[in-house]
Amino acid sequence: MLDAVRRGLTPGEAALFEAVLAEAEKRHVALYLVGGPVRDILLGRGLRDVDLIVEPREDVPLGAAELARAAAPARSQVVEHDRFGTVRIETADGALDVATVRRESYARPGALPSVEPGTLEDDLRRRDFTVNALAVPISAAARRGRPALIDPESGRDDVSRGVLRVFHAASFHDDPTRALRAARLAERLGFRLSRGSRTALRDAIGAGAFSAVSGDRWRREFEKLFDDARRGLDPAAALRMLAEWHVLGALEPGLSVPKLALPALRRLGRSLAAPPFPAARLRPWAAGLAVWLADLDATSRRRTLRRFAVRGELAQRIAEFPRLRNRCLRTLATARGRGSVDALLGGIDEERLLALFAYAPPASRRRLLRWALEDRTRRPPVTGADLVAAGLSGPVVGAALARIRLAWLDGAVHTRDEAIALARELGARLGRRSASRPRKRARRVATRPATGKSTKVSLPAPEPSSILPAATPPTRALHPERQ
Ligand code: ATP
Repeated sequence: MLDAVRRGLTPGEAALFEAVLAEAEKRHVALYLVGGPVRDILLGRGLRDVDLIVEPREDVPLGAAELARAAAPARSQVVEHDRFGTVRIETADGALDVATVRRESYARPGALPSVEPGTLEDDLRRRDFTVNALAVPISAAARRGRPALIDPESGRDDVSRGVLRVFHAASFHDDPTRALRAARLAERLGFRLSRGSRTALRDAIGAGAFSAVSGDRWRREFEKLFDDARRGLDPAAALRMLAEWHVLGALEPGLSVPKLALPALRRLGRSLAAPPFPAARLRPWAAGLAVWLADLDATSRRRTLRRFAVRGELAQRIAEFPRLRNRCLRTLATARGRGSVDALLGGIDEERLLALFAYAPPASRRRLLRWALEDRTRRPPVTGADLVAAGLSGPVVGAALARIRLAWLDGAVHTRDEAIALARELGARLGRRSASRPRKRARRVATRPATGKSTKVSLPAPEPSSILPAATPPTRALHPERQ
């Protein structure tokens, strides 16, 4: 087992693991590998993380924090999570979690547990499913008088049968978020929830336990669900399971997974696992909620976002995604030229871009991809400073830049000289217009796609131009949000 752990570690994790193990041996501390990694080794799967646990004994009353601090190599950081006595050692190359054994009890359904010192067996029994209640002694002090695999609830049998089983009938009652953990694990491992556990889940739903859990906690569980898509979980399958178990309706009355969302959720999952285009600062769960909730009615969508404590601008963006999606898909389907695709997609955040990609049919997907991989980062041959130097000023600069970018991506403008000539032409035209109609209301909004900031200017409809060939389609440098 120890060899399998060592084989499964990255070099950064291995260095931390060996340091903690050496310190445990030196101080005669009982150290165990516990939970997910044991289960994954039994399944022959790669390790996702390494969870170690320390059992203080009368003769060696050392806990995880002391052991971690003593073992932490130079240039590492020991982060203590006070509430639960768990510690994380982090270096630039990896991280390792160490905890002290504990016993947990729940004052009321849905509350966070009260934690007190316990034995290794207490610690295993507080866990969600039997397949996670497995420990392997890895230090000499832990091995003394213990079997090679500590398995108080026949978790090993459940691993081999592919079953998730809770320990007792009140498990989901104590902590309803375990239902989301069940869907996530079942989908990830290809396991099923045991019959008794489904009954326990039904009972907890019937007793109203799910409404006692805060929105923040539910959102965090959905964050993990969509994060796991990066490692291959299919969010469509996990959400369908939750719907089948009546969990979604318990979270928010009427909440479901619309049929239309299923293929898009599957594509989103694949895109998170193998990103089709670079997306910095992407929050998978925000893209996930945008896709999942898009075909619910607007009231249910907003209520669900509130229930998951998604607030502010992000909630607004997710709530308005369906309108953006419909408009963008219509325009992408008929877009002529790369400039108009750029003007359409330029101001959209990464999460909704990925959500849009998930819903787009093949031809539109190819256009979106070409823009995200090639055009998005291309810079036209002039900057705002060049236009100011050429005599333009005020909002005309932004409008001219947007128009130049569009013409340049469409291949109608190639050089800096051509770009400046177009800018001067636009400047002169706008100057003439504003002289003849000084107070006319702005008709269009020109946007600088890179920043998403918009500047309202009166942009005239295209006229025959010495720079733009007659065949150039009408240009609209519009922010999709503001059409
Ligand atoms: P893995 O089990 O693959 O590590 P994970 O990343 O979801 O999946 P963590 O969230 O790191 O696991 O949790 C580590 C362990 O803590 C789990 O194996 C589980 O036994 C236990 N655990 C986590 N959350 C709960 C919970 N709500 N109730 C009971 N046990 C839990």
